[in-house]
Amino acid sequence: SVPIITVDGPGGAGKGTLSYSLASELGWGMLDSGALYRVTAFAVLANDVPLSDESAIANIASHLALEFVPAAEGLTQVLLNGQDISLAIRSESCSSAASKVAAMGDVRAALLERQRQMAVAPGLVADGRDMGTVVFPDAPLKVFLTASAEARAERRHRQLLAKGESVTLARLLETIEERDARDRNRTESPLVPATDALVIDSTGISADSVLDTVLREARL
Ligand code: C5P
Repeated sequence: SVPIITVDGPGGAGKGTLSYSLASELGWGMLDSGALYRVTAFAVLANDVPLSDESAIANIASHLALEFVPAAEGLTQVLLNGQDISLAIRSESCSSAASKVAAMGDVRAALLERQRQMAVAPGLVADGRDMGTVVFPDAPLKVFLTASAEARAERRHRQLLAKGESVTLARLLETIEERDARDRNRTESPLVPATDALVIDSTGISADSVLDTVLREARL
């Protein structure tokens, strides 16, 4: 079977950075599962489907004509029907809608097989919320990367400032806590560490040192 490292945890803990570094270090592929929920949300908004219509949304999720194209520096180009929506899916409206569609059981079910198909040789680093608990429960190495809400808000704040976007730290903290609550309290695949996960709190720890810790485990 294909070796898999799962990287789960709340938003802003550094999962994306860790997953990209792991994948490049090991020469493996990468699954950004959050992008699947974001693309679903994008299609829902673009087609004016009400966020209350779960069966229509699940139908959209199961028919996405989606392509992930690896680009420079760990960035992945996301194409929907051939259209580059990489930037659009990171918008605030898409982030908010993604968090809502991700709470829908039928949507999660519709995206499950697509995620499992990403597990191809030589290996996969899978980034998300339920990679180790639901999508790849047999993965030999599961990481649960967390950090305090304040540290995650500060991290996002730095990323947004670097992109020239202005948002207050207080507002970000509020948004992060609201999405955490939705991830943790949903009935379908709630955000919890797998029982066999290596839990790492990245508060005050550099990305390099987190990477070293996980690579040491991966090479055992
Ligand atoms: O990680 P990212 O912020 O891109 O994820 C977008 C949304 O998708 C989040 O709000 C999260 O709730 C959801 N998600 C999920 N399960 C995953 C990955 C992301 O519910 N495996």
